[in-house]
Amino acid sequence: MLRLLILLSISTAAMALPEESRIHGGVALVNLGSTLVHPKAPYVKLAKRRVTVVNEDDTWFAVVGLSVLKPKNKIELNIAWQDNTSETRSVDIANKKYAESHITIANKNKVNPPKQDWDRIIRENKRIGKAKRYWLDSKPDFAFDLPTTGRFSSLYGKKRFINTIPKNPHRGLDIAAPTGTPIYSPAKALVVDTGDFFYTGNTVLLAHGAGLVSMYSHLSRIDVKKGMELERGDVLGAIGATGRVTGPHLHWAVGLNGTWVDPIYFLTPENRPKEKAEDPAKKKN
Ligand SMILES: [Zn+2]
Repeated sequence: MLRLLILLSISTAAMALPEESRIHGGVALVNLGSTLVHPKAPYVKLAKRRVTVVNEDDTWFAVVGLSVLKPKNKIELNIAWQDNTSETRSVDIANKKYAESHITIANKNKVNPPKQDWDRIIRENKRIGKAKRYWLDSKPDFAFDLPTTGRFSSLYGKKRFINTIPKNPHRGLDIAAPTGTPIYSPAKALVVDTGDFFYTGNTVLLAHGAGLVSMYSHLSRIDVKKGMELERGDVLGAIGATGRVTGPHLHWAVGLNGTWVDPIYFLTPENRPKEKAEDPAKKKN
């Protein structure tokens, strides 16, 4: 037990911030200057969304989620300091070609939902969107543990075709394991919402501090309730095949400033999928 705790503290200490990757679906760490110049944290916005700001080694960093759904080559951060000065900072973002995946789903109602399900889907999207933008006034722990054990069955960012129809890119990391395999909170968290949703099945949404959130979908059972506070390692539910799925797996999504980003940047390298997403630019070398 003691050994486990020591290992845990080493991996946590090594990841005070997520890994930076200025690509679509990645995370930008933007140095905003010394805390000696500005002792109080600024309020930073990207478009209308509040951005997470943390003090690391006496430096303010904006920790910005970069959209894969609405990819931009450049974003502008609005920085309002507490002495009433403000500035804008632009960040260049590189393009990333993610791999494609083609799947077939036999239940046509789950692909093109019948009209009577539309209201439900819109209602649930609003609930998920609200939880995704949840702001918690505490410093987040960016060092996540893997939430479950299993095989990485689909990586983040894959351009998806369902029954040959192009869909939104995959904005999560899938981990396949038998139904009933426990799912753990990857860090300290507040349960923001839970529900049984049309697409994502039994779902748990967690807030980890500032604008950092995470989502767990297709669960066979949910073991937590809205408003509960979880410690790293607490069981929140179990792997299942509820919602729109082809088999039992966890769809794990991590959000920053209301954008689902690649969860790998919050994991230590040894916990990440080994099979790197296809990168044609690198393949040529
Ligand atoms: Zn998924």
